[in-house]
Amino acid sequence: MEVLAAVGGEVMAKNVGPIDVLCDAPPYPVVKACANLGFVKPQDVRWCRLDRTKGRRPAGLFWLRSSAPACACGQPLPAMESYVFTFVSGSQARYYLCQCKRCRAIHWDKE
Ligand SMILES: [Zn+2]
Repeated sequence: MEVLAAVGGEVMAKNVGPIDVLCDAPPYPVVKACANLGFVKPQDVRWCRLDRTKGRRPAGLFWLRSSAPACACGQPLPAMESYVFTFVSGSQARYYLCQCKRCRAIHWDKE
């Protein structure tokens, strides 16, 4: 799986075959493409799905004290940025991503 282009937040990924399911991570081509988006070692860090839309408190370690999301390590998270991933099949998916500056965990959600 190679990234064809990563320009202006748009990513082309090819060879989207059987999807490897990583624990609590988006599809593998998305994880891999994130290396071209400036994320640090996306294939080696922890991924945490952060539900932006439901507005309720997740069962995890987020929102312990306020509405500002924080990483499980306690570091406040940067604002999530949206990226549109375009696959060779023509399908697109928008993901929201941010990476913890301290432990490098990537927090994400899908539109
Ligand atoms: Zn962290």
